[in-house]
Amino acid sequence: KFERNTVIVVFGASGDLAKKKTFPALFGLYREGYLDPSTKIIGYARSKLTIAELTERIQPHLKKTNEQSDLKIKEFFKMVTYVSGNYDTDDGYITLRAHIEELEEKCNVEIPHRLFYFALPPSVFLSVAKQIKKLVYAENGFTRVIVEKPFGHDLESARALQNDLAPLFKEKEIFRIDHYLGKELVKNLTVLRFGNQFLNASWNKENLQSVQISFKEPFGTEGRGGYFDSIGIIRDVMQNHLLQILTLVTMERPQSFNPESIRNEKVKVLQAMKPIDVNDILIGQYGKSIDGTKPAYLDDETVKKGSKCITFAAMTFHIDNERWRGVPIMMRAGKALNEGKVEIRLQYKSSYGVFSDIPNNELVIRVQPDAAVYMKFNAKTPGLSNKSQVTDLDLTYSSRYKDFWIPEAYEVLIRDALLEDHSNFVRNDELDVSWELFTPLLNYLEGPDAPQPEVYPYGTRGPKGLKEYMKNHGYALHEKNNCYTWPVTTPK
Ligand code: NAP
Ligand code: NAP
Repeated sequence: KFERNTVIVVFGASGDLAKKKTFPALFGLYREGYLDPSTKIIGYARSKLTIAELTERIQPHLKKTNEQSDLKIKEFFKMVTYVSGNYDTDDGYITLRAHIEELEEKCNVEIPHRLFYFALPPSVFLSVAKQIKKLVYAENGFTRVIVEKPFGHDLESARALQNDLAPLFKEKEIFRIDHYLGKELVKNLTVLRFGNQFLNASWNKENLQSVQISFKEPFGTEGRGGYFDSIGIIRDVMQNHLLQILTLVTMERPQSFNPESIRNEKVKVLQAMKPIDVNDILIGQYGKSIDGTKPAYLDDETVKKGSKCITFAAMTFHIDNERWRGVPIMMRAGKALNEGKVEIRLQYKSSYGVFSDIPNNELVIRVQPDAAVYMKFNAKTPGLSNKSQVTDLDLTYSSRYKDFWIPEAYEVLIRDALLEDHSNFVRNDELDVSWELFTPLLNYLEGPDAPQPEVYPYGTRGPKGLKEYMKNHGYALHEKNNCYTWPVTTPK
């Protein structure tokens, strides 16, 4: 049930995330009728902005879907106010409290519902959390805080952050956003797996040969390398987004759709993962493109000279349980590659006897772009031929679900937080295990004996050894697959 008169405070309202994601998501929910018009949205930041200036920043990022949208935008901005103040001193929060109380009193709110969204750099995170608790916490109502990554830099800092936050907010008041959990196809994983007996029955070591979770970006750091250099591709997308996908792909069936039931299963499978073998990884850093038109990572002036920061990594997980023992689960992510996509690829074992040499079935769940689920399977070539060929069962969202509104990840997650549904947020113990898994690898890659990443040309698939790496971890790349085309073209 949606609470009327909820107050949403966006900290860091003058920033990038707020204008590109948080406000557009709030607007998207309003436009579609999922944010009650009684909601009050307050932007908070140090910048002295008028409402007109804030509007001017945000408006270009609001999505219009039909001729009603302009009117909706006008109505939406009537819900928005702004308070300017510091993050670490009382004065701004005293003004904020007075403003919130005034809004609540006007509407005779008896039980306040306040949602605080941290669109802030981590350096001010804790000060803001402390000030909220001290001055604007809803003592006789409900307080929720949405926090953004990074949740620490390694196991130690993540635990320190958690220890600092724990006395301030109960775990049920904290919503840690990993926006991949709000993506349609990621949310669909549980239904696909457990709502289809034919998939569920084959989702195991008896039938699957390998699993791949891939993230490919077609661009490099493009002048933002300074930020990336201290982070690297592992912290940027693997320890968080891709690991979240991996846990949903590999967890056991939850007892119910209760959020804690789902999160318990995610933690259990993370705990069953063997440590990442630092000798079984492939790491790279992009160099100039082959034609010389695209710059190398080290050409980015914001990057430190001679940096060993990795922009590509492939690694393999082994899950020591009944379902997965022996199935390599590869994760790879890279910048400046030949294309942009995020997909999950489950490759089945090969067929037997007379059909032992035909390509393995593959189930592909493409998270982005162009959401799709397809199963590559073998069928007789139509006509007089008895030869088999690879074809597909294909669910392409853009053609199948033309009239559906598919919400943006941030829209999904803000609504979940408003409805107090934690299913798609990261729990503290989940975060702890994920850092436990990745920290030894990060220490190795960033320690005194850090290996030199292999340079791969901008615009290629990654380091030269990738094909071999995939083969060594169970992925069969079939020659016969080469004649598979999509979309299907009619032979002349
Ligand atoms: P940002 O624009 O750099 O910062 C947001 C606001 O915080 C700024 O407008 C500024 O507002 C204030 N601020 C910036 N640096 C500060 C500092 N050193 N001390 C005090 N205040 C400072 O950050 P962002 O890109 O919006 O990201 C916010 C958070 O979301 C970060 O944790 C980031 O990792 C995460 N995130 C961002 C994105 C994205 O697309 N941008 C995506 C995923 C996650 P005032 O000066 O007006 O106070
Ligand atoms: P594919 O091209 O056969 O690739 C299968 C796997 O092999 C991918 O993991 C790919 O890596 C890897 N691979 C291929 N060539 C390689 C090489 N030379 N070195 C290393 N690894 C290599 O994929 P597919 O699933 O059959 O799809 C083919 C095309 O059809 C794709 O463009 C796909 O998007 C499209 N398709 C679209 C839909 C749809 O939208 N509904 C349905 C079916 C197919 P990479 O991921 O790095 O390429």
